[in-house]
Amino acid sequence: MEHIKLLKNTQKTFFKSGKTRDVSFIKTKLKALKSTIISNENAIYDALYKDFKKSKFETYFSEIGILISEIEMTLKNIEKWNKPKKVRSAALNFPSKDYIYSEPYGTVLVIAPWNYPFQLAIAPIVSAIAAGNTVVLKPSELTPHTAQIIEDVLSDVFKKEHLSVVQGGIPETTALLDERWDYIFFTGSVPVGKIVAKAAAQFMTPVTLELGGKNPCIVDDSVDIKLTAKRLVWGKFVNAGQTCIAPDYILAKESIKSELVQQLKIEITKAYGEDPQQSEDYPRIVNAKNLKRLENMLKEGNIVHGGTIDNDDNYLAPTLIDDPTLYSKVMEGEIFGPILPILSYSTNEDIESIVNRYEKPLGFYVFSNRKEFYTALIKTFSFGGGSINDTMIHFGNPRLPFGGVGDSGIGAYHGRLGFDTFSHKKGITIKANWLDIPLRYAPYKNKLKKIKKAFKWMG
Ligand code: NAD
Repeated sequence: MEHIKLLKNTQKTFFKSGKTRDVSFIKTKLKALKSTIISNENAIYDALYKDFKKSKFETYFSEIGILISEIEMTLKNIEKWNKPKKVRSAALNFPSKDYIYSEPYGTVLVIAPWNYPFQLAIAPIVSAIAAGNTVVLKPSELTPHTAQIIEDVLSDVFKKEHLSVVQGGIPETTALLDERWDYIFFTGSVPVGKIVAKAAAQFMTPVTLELGGKNPCIVDDSVDIKLTAKRLVWGKFVNAGQTCIAPDYILAKESIKSELVQQLKIEITKAYGEDPQQSEDYPRIVNAKNLKRLENMLKEGNIVHGGTIDNDDNYLAPTLIDDPTLYSKVMEGEIFGPILPILSYSTNEDIESIVNRYEKPLGFYVFSNRKEFYTALIKTFSFGGGSINDTMIHFGNPRLPFGGVGDSGIGAYHGRLGFDTFSHKKGITIKANWLDIPLRYAPYKNKLKKIKKAFKWMG
């Protein structure tokens, strides 16, 4: 695909011009991006609705609003983030001054998923552009209307040598990965993450991999069950469960499990009515292939709520499965859809043995009023990030790093961390010339004791 090579080379030339590092130029572009997103609000709603019947509220809340906050925070801080940061000097180097310089990597490839197709494509771009890079974005082909509005919005604001969209699926992504980039930022599944990591390795290209996992949600017996159920229903069924940080399964204390299940049913009905297919607020599964995958999970286990499927509408009702075995399909891997299995535990060892069956998750949730209980769980398990007494809300704070660990990903972004992700940090020591301590220079005769003393003094 010659046009991809050409595009990359055009961007490399533009990067070399230095223009992408001009902070006032970057600010103009980010301001224009913000106002273009705002002026296209209705077109964005239309695109997301056409792709999987996402409601206006959820589109604003999880795609547009969150992105505008990210742009605003970046605009507010970009001068500060771009300045060399002064740090304390090492006594060993006395007299000197020390700085961390941020340098853009150059030409960045961003590959995005379909589940929050607008936000997860554009949020990394905001950080990459703020840090002074050029960007080629490959949005997901599974949400074609959103991919088109992304291209329309971005091409309105950016020239293609600065930021460009390449649409397509596996062949186009493969061709993009054959090129040498200065940084690759990927959001998607673990298997494709591995393909991306391998492609990057051949050029030693640094990567961020934002992947998925099986996110546990532990509920003990100290909670307000009604409030817990309300928050769980929100976190699980927003975007019809197609969220990388959605609670995947519940581990409830045996004594409260049946009451929790009852409350979950009540809260689902309160949120989406008796027939969620008629609710304007409940999205669809992205395509028939994913619906089939989810349908297979319903073949075993005790469905205590929902389970209705309409293939013509890619619809799957919010579904609860009570007490599935650990060997059933729904407990195999990431569910990534509106099916919520509820398991129980009686001891902390039960929690450990279930959570440790799976790779390190992206999200981790505990509902408990016992500080020592949730603090111990935070320390015991390794996971990307999490919320206590709620689900997913840590994503909403741009001052928190967002990313996985182990199989759930490499690296993190949002806010200052996003800027840092897309910039190499150069450590610089500026030595003064008014003094030159002779200790380090050869010949070293009689200097060993003195250097030992000097290290002690520095410590
Ligand atoms: P995916 O891995 O199938 O696709 C992601 C991107 O990779 C798409 O742009 C797609 O075109 C491309 N792609 C797909 N197959 C490819 C191949 N063989 N070679 C090269 N490129 C390929 O993921 P998805 O289905 O779009 O998204 C769902 C997954 O993403 C879930 O596992 C979810 O947990 C994860 N996710 C993670 C985050 C996060 O921030 N950590 C956010 C959203 C989704």
